[in-house]
Amino acid sequence: MSGMQRDTPPETSPTAATQTPRGRSVCCALYLWVGASLLLWTAGCVTTTFRPPSTRGRVAVMEVTGYCNCGKCCSWEYAWFGLGRPVVSSGQNKGRAKQIGRTSSGAEARHGTLAADTARYPYGTLVEVPGYGLGRVEDTGSAIRGDHLDLWFDDHEKARQWGRQRKLVKIWLPSDTR
Ligand SMILES: [Zn+2]
Repeated sequence: MSGMQRDTPPETSPTAATQTPRGRSVCCALYLWVGASLLLWTAGCVTTTFRPPSTRGRVAVMEVTGYCNCGKCCSWEYAWFGLGRPVVSSGQNKGRAKQIGRTSSGAEARHGTLAADTARYPYGTLVEVPGYGLGRVEDTGSAIRGDHLDLWFDDHEKARQWGRQRKLVKIWLPSDTR
């Protein structure tokens, strides 16, 4: 009876010839998907960054550094020897709960988020930094005083690579764009 069983005949089984186009189209679809998501991703970046105002900005030389959301850059650590919740690791708020990735203005940190001395550059100040782009002051830092700007990066290595640079930047204070 074994001869009557519905064994797949060799001529109908998928051969290398029929598999190749399918494999190729899957590959094409994958490339398309990657391309589309890259496009979407960059388009998302374009829409989340700010447009330079039409009004004339001020020009200044600033000391520009980089930071990310990490504990090193944002002074936080996990409480209870690394087992607990994120808490502020230094300064007057030491030990207080820390919301990672949230700026002092309450915004979500992303490319374009700038930390500055808000006594001089209030929240909402737009700054165009050559090599980084246009950003908006949404954050502060205990070490960010005077003509010092801290740029947000999504990765610690990128922030480290930026290092410390003196840059000629263009600034629009909130009063300039009104
Ligand atoms: Zn970092």
